[in-house]
Amino acid sequence: VGRVEPAWRLSDARTRWGSLSAKGVVSLNWRLIKASREEIDYVICHELAHFRHRNHSAAFWREVGRLCPDYPAVRARLRACNSLYFQF
Ligand SMILES: [Zn+2]
Repeated sequence: VGRVEPAWRLSDARTRWGSLSAKGVVSLNWRLIKASREEIDYVICHELAHFRHRNHSAAFWREVGRLCPDYPAVRARLRACNSLYFQF
């Protein structure tokens, strides 16, 4: 993180807040417009952590925690609001 300048785009995905393509393009769901600042920060940290770990391993979540120390609470809130549509 920091060495790579990610490309960003908005996505219209129904099932994800954000994603990282094989080409390193980060997509953020436009529905995040309605999310709070810290929720958006969490999604961005999540995707940035995928630059180092392309999985959801324990090492990945440690990286998320380093970038976004409050992530467990934010993640729980996002899940609660959108459990029908969104997963991580
Ligand atoms: Zn992920």
